[in-house]
Amino acid sequence: MTPVLVLMSGDLSLIAVPANLLACPAVAPATILGFAAALVAPVWPDAAQWLVMPAGYAVGWIVSVARWAAQAPLTHLPWPGGMLGVALLAVAVVVAALVLRRPTWRRVVLVASGAALAAAVVVPPIAAPWPPPRWLLVACDVGQGDGLVIAAGSGRGVVVDTGPDPVAMDRCLRDLGVREVPLVVLTHPHADHIGGLRGVLRGRSVGAVVVSAAHQTHRAKGGWEYRSHGAQDGPVPPDGPGEGQAAPSGQASASGHERPGTAPHDGRQLPEWVATPGARWRFGPSELTVVAPSPSSVAAGPGEGSVLNNASIVLHVRWAAGSALLGGDIETEAQTDLVRQGMPKADVLKVPHHGSGRQDPEFLAAVGARAALISVGADNGYGHPAVDTLTALHRLGVRAHRTDRSGDLAIVERDGSLAVVSRGVREER
Ligand SMILES: [Zn+2]
Ligand SMILES: [Zn+2]
Repeated sequence: MTPVLVLMSGDLSLIAVPANLLACPAVAPATILGFAAALVAPVWPDAAQWLVMPAGYAVGWIVSVARWAAQAPLTHLPWPGGMLGVALLAVAVVVAALVLRRPTWRRVVLVASGAALAAAVVVPPIAAPWPPPRWLLVACDVGQGDGLVIAAGSGRGVVVDTGPDPVAMDRCLRDLGVREVPLVVLTHPHADHIGGLRGVLRGRSVGAVVVSAAHQTHRAKGGWEYRSHGAQDGPVPPDGPGEGQAAPSGQASASGHERPGTAPHDGRQLPEWVATPGARWRFGPSELTVVAPSPSSVAAGPGEGSVLNNASIVLHVRWAAGSALLGGDIETEAQTDLVRQGMPKADVLKVPHHGSGRQDPEFLAAVGARAALISVGADNGYGHPAVDTLTALHRLGVRAHRTDRSGDLAIVERDGSLAVVSRGVREER
């Protein structure tokens, strides 16, 4: 199985061999019983059920072994993917076979590999387990859109945008073990940022939703341009205007919010607040501050899509080890405004608008980030991220990480500062 793994992932697993040996006895019963069940099911469903049960145990054993292997301290060696990786592995095996024929060489190799193993235990693994320890922010791989989760204590996460797809968002939150969402921030009402809300609500309690004033106006007007940008699975039906005047949830107390009310979000009546600059929340290790939009700013742009993008809620998130700026979909106009009025610096920038070409280079420089997260779908029709934007980031010495290449991306605390961990699905070359 090892050559197949190399071909797929470009990693050489150090414990693939013992893990495969352990899983081996369960493979035959799982395959044969599963196959037999599939054959019998159409004609005799009851019998198929009896066949499936032991097959399930066998599969369970394989899954447990795989989980254990993935979390063991020695996990992966970086190894080139594709045919090159397989060829290298073959050469390594042949060389090892030749060398190990001589007893003296065998002893040398034993000592050397012992030392290498010891080093591998000390050096942190390349591919971290998921969720990575001490994660603070995760950009979920939601395809073309934004779906971010901010750590808010054990089993809790603040969601900033939900991506276009409920299934992808639910999957990401489940993988992170988030069962409770004290706050959902919807930066602006485009489907690639709010279409996955149902996935957030699935089996989870939600404290409150934060939207922009432009969002409420847009919704009140019927808001059908919800699909004008980035929607890939059809329009999102607009919610009705806010009703009732319930007190804000005690779970998430903010300073500087206005007009607390409730509004229906995917069939659930939830407390809803309008974001205003300076509003601040603290959840677990994270402190969130609203940077924009200010109620006085008139969002501008070349089209209605750009106007809504420029009215995005911009958040600054601070942790003990550093900070991040989450730029929603703001384009050049709103970025220039932010630079003019003065904005907080951050170690990590969630690049606005999926890395589109409408970026103000002064804004990118003013953030002063060391790392950039680009939440973007593979082969999207918008040409995101733009080559110009990637070049501008590169010139500023900012390392860009993309969800279309790396899958879920996490900001973690490591040795008192921030580091980026990718889930390593398709790490950039
Ligand atoms: Zn977007
Ligand atoms: Zn947008």
